[in-house]
Amino acid sequence: MDIRDEINQLKKEKDAVILAHYYVRPEVQEIADYTGDSFYLSRTAEKLTSKVLVFAGVSFMGESAKLLNPEKVVLMPDLSADCAMAHMADAGTIRKMRDTYEDLAVVCYINSTAELKRHSDVCVTSANAVKIVRELPNKNIFFIPDRNLARFVAAKVPEKHFVFNAGYCPVHEEMKREEIERLKLRHPEAPVLVHPECPAAICDMADYVGSTSGIIRYAGESSAREFIICTESGVRCELQKQDPDKVFYFPDTEPVCKDMKLITLEKIRDVLRTGENALQAEEGSASRAREPLERMLALAAKQEKGVE
Ligand code: SF4
Repeated sequence: MDIRDEINQLKKEKDAVILAHYYVRPEVQEIADYTGDSFYLSRTAEKLTSKVLVFAGVSFMGESAKLLNPEKVVLMPDLSADCAMAHMADAGTIRKMRDTYEDLAVVCYINSTAELKRHSDVCVTSANAVKIVRELPNKNIFFIPDRNLARFVAAKVPEKHFVFNAGYCPVHEEMKREEIERLKLRHPEAPVLVHPECPAAICDMADYVGSTSGIIRYAGESSAREFIICTESGVRCELQKQDPDKVFYFPDTEPVCKDMKLITLEKIRDVLRTGENALQAEEGSASRAREPLERMLALAAKQEKGVE
């Protein structure tokens, strides 16, 4: 039997759905029931009624889904698929910042471990960070772990005082200005669309800076026929599906998150078949990590409804 048929049959038998991030392999995105960025996936996971969620992504995504759905079975196709940036902050520094600054909110990018979320006040994603930070009553913001997203948000919310952390995404940090300049010379009509995890030198060249879903939306709505894309190249799958006739150029040093690519159809089939790699529900003080996620979803829902 074809592996796709096997997966679809297992999904029915186990009452399972597959959630996939835009950065995983194209064949995994194609078989998924829901594909999106971190914000969309966390919001979707919270609303699903299926018993089993297979999370095709890195560990913080599965952890977040489990925190929001402790009663559901969350299966990770590969437990070793991790996000380097998710670990680039520490509880000791957070405590020090709380002692140093009065009226401080610890704002935690969703790309972080449950342990970091446990010490934070609110989570954000790249899609909602600006709006959520703007809504916070606090004057001082300690933004973890990503310094690049923090810089982007700080520029949009100048009324707050930001304290920066040294974390970064190794994939976006590696983008080279010379490569983007070369692409611009070759394709002068192509707008440059940049993810805010990129360093300032890349964001400065952008026609648009936004989350993965923002980049997809911008490309879909634009009358341009070609684009220079500065984010992980897995997003090409959704961009091309949306607009088969448009052309998308990525930097010559292809931005690839190796951990996202660890997720394969075979691993999805295997966890569905065996139930292995199920995440355990956090208990006691560990479940404190759920609060910043729930606060993010509540603030985002309020903003969507236009409620002040
Ligand atoms: S692309 Fe970067 S931020 Fe995203 S999962 Fe990979 S290492 Fe983490």
